[in-house]
Amino acid sequence: MSRPIIAIDGPAGAGKSTVARAVADRLGYLYIDTGAMYRVIALNVIREGIPLSDTAKISTLAKRTEIEFANIEGVQHVFSDDEDVTDAIRTPEATRLSSPVSAIQGVRKRLVELQRKMGEQGGVVMEGRDIGTVVFPNAEVKVFLTASVTERARRRCEQLREMGMEADVDKIASEIRERDLRDSSREHAPLKLAAGATLLETDNMSAEQVVDAIVGIHDEKIPAN
Ligand code: C5P
Repeated sequence: MSRPIIAIDGPAGAGKSTVARAVADRLGYLYIDTGAMYRVIALNVIREGIPLSDTAKISTLAKRTEIEFANIEGVQHVFSDDEDVTDAIRTPEATRLSSPVSAIQGVRKRLVELQRKMGEQGGVVMEGRDIGTVVFPNAEVKVFLTASVTERARRRCEQLREMGMEADVDKIASEIRERDLRDSSREHAPLKLAAGATLLETDNMSAEQVVDAIVGIHDEKIPAN
């Protein structure tokens, strides 16, 4: 019980990455961005030119892809078969493809296995869409972060611009709507509020306030020993 799991789920652009990373820093836990893992598979699907309809081939690709995280000078890097793909997985194309790729059952099966292995020792903050519902339904702390589409599009734009990429807020808002719909209505592990999760609407909250709220829930559930 001393090394708990914190599950943070929510739709695209709700601020999960920023907040999950900061919560992990505050508590000295490991941060795992599961969206990055789906993006790695999407990137490899693009690179290998596999059509989305070939779910068998995409599932096989997922099975043979080794995904690892490493903290380099305080920044989390993602590796696909030892290649650093941290920036490559953030392109608009990889972003668009990550949602349909993540709806493929064989891909989910493989990545959920990897995620459970990464979290088995506890002491992790894992963020995604199905952490509290599927990956770790018994997580000690479960949070569902959300915000309006307008606010989420604004945040994504800012993030992309910081990375030196062009961003159109209306286009991003319509892509977010499309991804929300797909992620919430898919057959396998749809995005939804997990049993026992705390819902945080973050439109009018700063990242710091959200972090404080989650650390507060953690401290309440996990008494210091
Ligand atoms: O969070 P991020 O935008 O990086 O996630 C990319 C895509 O991966 C999402 O659109 C979603 O479809 C998928 N995903 C998922 N399950 C997770 C994390 C992400 O299906 N646990």
